[in-house]
Amino acid sequence: ENSNHPHYSTLKEDELPINLQQYEDQYVLRISDWSCNSVRDQVMLSAKELDISIWEVANTHKFMDLQVSESEGIALLSMLKDKKVSDEDFKMEMMIDDLPQRIFETYPFNTASEDGDIKSNAEIFFRQYRDINVIYNWFDLLVETYPHLLTVEWIGQTYEGRDIKALRLTAHQENSKGIKTIAITGGIHAREWVSVSTACYVLYQFLLDYEAGDPKAIFYLKNMDFLFLPVMNPDGYSETWGTNRLWRKNKQETYNPRCQGIDIDHNFNFHFTRSMDSPCGENYPGEGAFESLESYAWDKYLNETKHDHPIHGYLDLHSYAEEVLYPYAFTCGELPRDEENLLELAYGLSQSIRLTSGKNYGVLSACEDKNSDLMPSMGAGSALDYMYHNKAYWAFVLKLRDSGSHGFLLPSKFIVPVGNE
Ligand SMILES: [Zn+2]
Repeated sequence: ENSNHPHYSTLKEDELPINLQQYEDQYVLRISDWSCNSVRDQVMLSAKELDISIWEVANTHKFMDLQVSESEGIALLSMLKDKKVSDEDFKMEMMIDDLPQRIFETYPFNTASEDGDIKSNAEIFFRQYRDINVIYNWFDLLVETYPHLLTVEWIGQTYEGRDIKALRLTAHQENSKGIKTIAITGGIHAREWVSVSTACYVLYQFLLDYEAGDPKAIFYLKNMDFLFLPVMNPDGYSETWGTNRLWRKNKQETYNPRCQGIDIDHNFNFHFTRSMDSPCGENYPGEGAFESLESYAWDKYLNETKHDHPIHGYLDLHSYAEEVLYPYAFTCGELPRDEENLLELAYGLSQSIRLTSGKNYGVLSACEDKNSDLMPSMGAGSALDYMYHNKAYWAFVLKLRDSGSHGFLLPSKFIVPVGNE
């Protein structure tokens, strides 16, 4: 599909970005068009029971993607049969049958000649996904270019010793006290690369628009500051570049020496809940709130700066499924303050996306997305609820593209279209 990439099997090991053989017996199945929600729930619970990796459950578009080996696929079908779920109650198709190749195609390949030009032509930056070092160098380059608008903010340090860095965009060099801030974060889940590139793209486009005298950009920056944290999970992100493209959590040690990583998006303190997920699970929330160094550092940073820069709005970028989520995540039993206005703004976001790109982003509450009523721990301790409850008046999750057949492995040619969207 990506013309720059030969088939990985024709290349030598040292020409490949990571060991791709680890995915060779893996496939991604799409379950869709379930006849009712209890069928969806049975499939989900069975997948959990079998330790199958659930990539996504998209409730507005009605599909669920599962990464399985052949034997896991067979075990799932027989478990569903035992539970009296007929195969006529849902559709199942092969979504990705050459997983290692699809993974390979998300990495830059044979681009050495253009990479040197990132400095001279910033747009080259968005032709490919970028690793953490390139992104942080690009931060520095931007600050050099726009010193009157941008500063690098040091948020903290990760378990593996990487810096967590944000960029503050402000046109109020003096007297910025009390100016409302919009915070935009990406990459809390390591494998969701398009959330990282999109946070970077929005920032960059904003700068260009402002410098070009675009009235909207000038209006926004006159009235608000922006805080961009494109890589909220630098260790996990580095893991996806160097070892396992499908890593989700951070890389912190746990009580189980065989399994690393806390899902940062379950580790905030608003309704933090210990879950059935062990440290080996992809949703492991940690043993206590703010155990993950990333959530801890973010909270500390926001507390220390909150009087100068109150957070007014929050957008947390994820992939995938093309959905706008509003609070709460932890339960559907408690309504958010101002639900009507939250909904209106969520539909407004969805509409402006539709007008920009024609894509149809579904709107739903985060608790429905996480299925928190069925599995209460799935929506607990999220960044969304924490920000909404403690920090931001408005807070949303955007689950970016796609809803087609790429899942987390969205090709790099979509970086700019999704950024614009
Ligand atoms: Zn995510």
